[in-house]
Amino acid sequence: MRQVAIYGKGGIGKSTTTQNILAALAELGKKIMLVGCDPKSDSTRLLLGGKAQETVLNSVKEVGQENVTEEDVFKVGFGGIRCVESGGPEPGVGCAGRGIITSITTLEQLGSYEKDLDYVFYDVLGDVVCGGFAMPIREAYAKEIYIVCSGELMALYAANNICKGVLKFANSGGVRIGGIICNSRNVDNEKDMVDAFAKKIGTQMIHFIPRDNVVQRAEIQKKTVIEYDKSCGQADVYRELAGKIETNDMFIVPSPISMQELEDLMMEYGLMEEYERTTEAAKENTATQR
Ligand code: ADP
Ligand code: MG
Repeated sequence: MRQVAIYGKGGIGKSTTTQNILAALAELGKKIMLVGCDPKSDSTRLLLGGKAQETVLNSVKEVGQENVTEEDVFKVGFGGIRCVESGGPEPGVGCAGRGIITSITTLEQLGSYEKDLDYVFYDVLGDVVCGGFAMPIREAYAKEIYIVCSGELMALYAANNICKGVLKFANSGGVRIGGIICNSRNVDNEKDMVDAFAKKIGTQMIHFIPRDNVVQRAEIQKKTVIEYDKSCGQADVYRELAGKIETNDMFIVPSPISMQELEDLMMEYGLMEEYERTTEAAKENTATQR
């Protein structure tokens, strides 16, 4: 059983990408459990055809930790995927990571990890420095991390910070980075930029996902792209990524970079066209002056 965590800045596309990867893995016949670790509780919406009303945290609150049953915790979604939403406190009240801790403890108690599973995926909010959010890696549940990122500075900044967290637990828990997933925001030279970032921290850009409105159309229908339109190009993009994860053998301890290096990377790739334009213009200028 492989335990995989997907981290990344809020809104970057973790839940969308994770659920599409899982739909693709389910098509291959894999048995999967998805543990949503975001207080927003929307990690499983596309697989369940709607937002799960009950979270583990709520169930535990209602019936007590000892009395929680599998029915309280799991909903079976697309492709037989077992879906769990950890839940979290009301915004501004209490520690947002508590839901994850309760969730994992409950899954242990129910023996859910002993089930016949090929994969457990954790969809984790990654730009919050909080003990709870580090739980899947700190306690060595997930040993394999993929970071969803784009070519935007804050997304790269968050990815780099997540690497710092991974580095902290790499020795004690054995957690490794499996790659950076670039979920495009149509930034200039994004693919090359994210690829260069991945190499700098010692890993690979495992896949580039184009921005495509079919994702929104599927989302409105509460479906993954794979379920919504299984023969479209974007569905194949997710299948390809799932295949790469399935056969991935590059697992590394990351070397996070400095803010200066990050900004230099942005300069180099993000302003490449501008740089070329100005040097072209300068060349032309000199030519006409001659
Ligand atoms: P996160 O889980 O990281 O907070 P979500 O998966 O909820 O982010 O995605 C945020 C929004 O971005 C969603 O509305 C989703 O439909 C959209 N989105 C994600 N990936 C893509 C993509 N490749 N193309 C178009 N829209 C996308
Ligand atoms: Mg999410």
